[in-house]
Amino acid sequence: MARASPQSNRQVNAKPGDVILYQGSRVTIYYGENSWNVTPLGHIGGVTGAGLREALKAGGGHVSVTFSLEGPRRDHAGVFDLERGSVRLNSGYTMPINSLGTYSLAWETCASAVKAALAHGVRLFDTASIYRNEAGVGQAIRESGVPREEIFVTPKLYPGSQYDHPEEAIQDALDKLGIGYIDMMLLHRPGRNDGKAYKAMEQAVAEGKICSIGLSNWYVKELEEFLPQVSITPALVQNKIHPFYRENDVIPYIQDLGIVVQGWYPLGGRGHTAELLGNEVISGIAEAHGKSSAQVILRWNLQKGVAVIPGSSNAEHIRENTELYGFTLSDAEMAQINALDRREKHD
Ligand code: NAP
Repeated sequence: MARASPQSNRQVNAKPGDVILYQGSRVTIYYGENSWNVTPLGHIGGVTGAGLREALKAGGGHVSVTFSLEGPRRDHAGVFDLERGSVRLNSGYTMPINSLGTYSLAWETCASAVKAALAHGVRLFDTASIYRNEAGVGQAIRESGVPREEIFVTPKLYPGSQYDHPEEAIQDALDKLGIGYIDMMLLHRPGRNDGKAYKAMEQAVAEGKICSIGLSNWYVKELEEFLPQVSITPALVQNKIHPFYRENDVIPYIQDLGIVVQGWYPLGGRGHTAELLGNEVISGIAEAHGKSSAQVILRWNLQKGVAVIPGSSNAEHIRENTELYGFTLSDAEMAQINALDRREKHD
């Protein structure tokens, strides 16, 4: 891949690969050498004059060149505020980047976990119709005394009858939660009638029932097929992400669309956490920072721009999972954790 590096405006003799400003108004790429005085803009590395000439010949005298600017990515919605623990979504709403996941927490356990989380400052709760605990989440929120507008709740619609009759399913989630409106609704996974279900969510946004909408378990191919059909770009994609399974290609693809990525199973998934939390690399980094392995994994996600939804029914773990902001993993530590990728799944 060729990379043009910026140079200062000075007059030099051009050589193959130089990008120059010619006669003040034309951008030219040199394939030969020239002793004229020119204004260099940059240089394309890794190319030869012969290679450039060959490309020109192959195109019958025409080549198409794309210039793009390299710099800090995502200087728009989607940039994590690691001071406040939040991100602005492409829908204009602000979402917390750490939260509580409630998969496999039955009503009462779920309600007490949500209350403990609220007491420790957690403001985002991930639920789903398939978890059968939306009512427990809603009850805990209503009883907490925390103002509704400070809280962010993400329920999901599941394939099957909910995608076949999405208006009823959305109303069902609103009724079970009993908190007035839904902050973010996701389609849980691709399935028959997912386009119809998404359109119903778009309509619910127009009616003020839902603030933001998104997808879960949609990967590059699925997104390429799905996105052309939608009117509202998803604000969030929630996919499985943890150090053994880190979706190298998928995360940047989604982020470059201006969509925030949220990772489920951040600790490897209930019943599968031992190997990840006990991993030597992760424990070593945790020890160096005086943090737990769970905190290091969650922080690694945040520094990659991935919001986290750790699940827990344990008040101490819930508190621990909020303390992710007073330390920073170095580039070397991030690289060490990145290197653990095994593309493993724990479905
Ligand atoms: P997880 O967050 O990877 O792991 C949960 C496990 O970690 C529990 O056994 C929990 O035990 C333990 N744990 C939590 N914090 C800990 C800490 N600080 N130290 C040690 N252990 C800790 O798995 P998950 O809950 O199954 O998944 C996370 C969330 O993702 C779910 O709750 C759900 O909201 C969402 N999800 C979404 C999808 C989807 O398809 N969109 C699929 C699965 C899950 P304790 O209870 O003892 O703390």
